[in-house]
Amino acid sequence: PNSKGRDGKPRLLLMGQRRSGKSSIANVVFHKLPPSETLFLETTYRIKKESMHSFMDFQVWDLPGHLDYFDPAFDTDNIFDEIGALIWVIDAQDEYLDAIARLNLTILNLQHSYPNINIEVFVHKVDGLSDDFRGDTFRDIIQRVQDELSDNGYEQAPISFYQTSIYDHSIFEGFSKVIQKLIPQLPTLEALLNNLCAACNIEKAYLFDIMSKIYVATDTTPTDIGNYEICSDYIDVVVDVAEIYGYERENQTPEEELLEKGNGDAESLITMERKGARYLYLRELNKYLALVCIMGDDSPAEKKAIIDYNVGVFQAGLKKVFPKGDREAQVEIVATND
Ligand code: GDP
Repeated sequence: PNSKGRDGKPRLLLMGQRRSGKSSIANVVFHKLPPSETLFLETTYRIKKESMHSFMDFQVWDLPGHLDYFDPAFDTDNIFDEIGALIWVIDAQDEYLDAIARLNLTILNLQHSYPNINIEVFVHKVDGLSDDFRGDTFRDIIQRVQDELSDNGYEQAPISFYQTSIYDHSIFEGFSKVIQKLIPQLPTLEALLNNLCAACNIEKAYLFDIMSKIYVATDTTPTDIGNYEICSDYIDVVVDVAEIYGYERENQTPEEELLEKGNGDAESLITMERKGARYLYLRELNKYLALVCIMGDDSPAEKKAIIDYNVGVFQAGLKKVFPKGDREAQVEIVATND
């Protein structure tokens, strides 16, 4: 119940020390900012709250660094009451003991008043670390947090750790996993995807939020980041093309929308393409979601009809899962500069 706010939107809070990478993450994932351009982002000096329209209707709140969110003057309840997950960003390239002390303090406070909030620790900027050092750093951070939790009797706290970087797909994978925990219909979506894979001999199927390239669900075979990368890169092609053929998107100008009037579901984009020894299949399911699948190259031409049919079945199932429309699950991100 506390994974959803008053308005039914599960919200995410993005926190961490100044310069840990919060604004970069928000801009790369939700605004498609090229990672190298985050070098020029300005530090936040006032509270910023912005909405990003995608399947989940994200909002980012960027709070300036001098605010102490446990200060009684600060409206803690208003911020923490409605969030489903707190993402804490730690700069793994920097001295991190202070960041961990701050995180531990926050977790202990949260465990006391809001024990159901998922705590998701992004050990971030790992692109700059050698493989060995990366693993050691990751384990050291986990150990330090868990020691503190057990010392205080909170071994059961819902906390997870991820290695992330804006320079590869790991930041999108991290967000995908965080968000999936906040979607109550996830088991149903996974079952629908499993059925689809079995019926069509599909290797891996992802349900993507098109704008952010976060995957909302995948079938339950083990996830391989390589497959995710291939599918996610394929989305970029489609978003371009969809400006001409696909569903209307939130960021369209009125002229663009006029041009598209009359495009119904029937004209949603469906493509299938060879990728090395395998095939990629993509279909837009609604304004926000696309299904992307990877499969072997056994007689794809004959299979296309079977796949189209079964994806139709999947789409009907999806409509039942989200009966009130495709924006049922909504996530809000609140970023603070610690
Ligand atoms: P914030 O104060 O927490 O919002 O941090 P910023 O988003 O302003 O990021 C601080 C600096 O970290 C910027 O120069 C970013 O380019 C850099 N940065 C952010 N994410 C990464 C990452 O994954 N890897 C590397 N190497 N640098 C990053």
